[in-house]
Amino acid sequence: MFFPKIDDNILKLFDTYDKFVIIGHENPDGDCISSSIGVSELLKKLNKKYVLLNAGPFTKEKDLEYLFKKEPNDNEKKDALLIVVDCSTSARLGSCYKYVKDMPTLIIDHHESGDKSFGDYKYILGDSPSTTLLVLQFFKALNVEISEEAAKALFFGFSTDTGFFRFLNKEQSHVLNDVYLLVEKGAVISDTYDKMFNQNNKEQKLYVASLIKKAQFINDDKLVIVRDSKYLLNKYKSANRDSDALFDQLLSIKSVQAIILCKYINGKENVFSLRSKNNSNIDVGKIAQSFNGGGHFHAAGFKLKGTEKQNIEIVKSKFKEYL
Ligand code: AMP
Ligand code: MN
Ligand code: MN
Repeated sequence: MFFPKIDDNILKLFDTYDKFVIIGHENPDGDCISSSIGVSELLKKLNKKYVLLNAGPFTKEKDLEYLFKKEPNDNEKKDALLIVVDCSTSARLGSCYKYVKDMPTLIIDHHESGDKSFGDYKYILGDSPSTTLLVLQFFKALNVEISEEAAKALFFGFSTDTGFFRFLNKEQSHVLNDVYLLVEKGAVISDTYDKMFNQNNKEQKLYVASLIKKAQFINDDKLVIVRDSKYLLNKYKSANRDSDALFDQLLSIKSVQAIILCKYINGKENVFSLRSKNNSNIDVGKIAQSFNGGGHFHAAGFKLKGTEKQNIEIVKSKFKEYL
């Protein structure tokens, strides 16, 4: 897989516009936050004005939350281009969508499952392991010097979305050239690993342990269903929902092919996170799309209205054809 050339019409936007609004998906993850920051670093170097938006809530990288606004003012929006990163579904902009829906829009993303009608200009490549690597292509195409700050952010997004290199497939190995560039420009591999994996508090581990204890193993232990609850969220208040640690633990069980995580929101709807093993033929992206969500072959998600019990039954039945 190689990064396609960015269309001249898209590159010209960075000349035409002087003001930009940068936004990513609600519930931002490392790739989303880092791509937003990466674009802001690019615009800084180009001497452009920008504002960063995100609907939140920030459960990861909380220390960076202060950089993001929830609402742009009229002046920030006037004559500005909207750049959407790590998202190509308008609904995933959450409560921010209403403020930006009429703006001219460029999408930079690696989800192919988005709304076809969303965005005026698009640089979308489902094969890219992270959105940050797509942002890097803009630095290269626009001949912008990659600052140490930018390199660190872009490498962090790559690291989180690839589970620290583990989810890279054979076809994607070529991206290591780009990763090398980021390391050359100041990203530090060991520091990034530390930031990703060695910053947990005790509560986080206890929260994950409680979820695993409650997990339901079905279909000869091939499928695992995990539910969090209001009770657990209250009990482990200071633990953020570090689902990745949960998935790592469960996918390390040999028999396990896929995981359904049903997250509590308010009793009226649930957020589902799906994962399947790297070598498994279970396309959770396709399953998520059937619920109007999306994602990738081995990692995907969606929201579902209804009671938790019913929702879990509906989602479980979608896995039947694979198990
Ligand atoms: P998560 O389980 O939230 O970590 O999400 C796993 C992957 O699926 C990530 O690439 C998300 O961006 C993507 N994803 C999650 N929810 C949705 C959704 N509602 N629509 C599109 N993509 C999603
Ligand atoms: Mn994301
Ligand atoms: Mn991503």
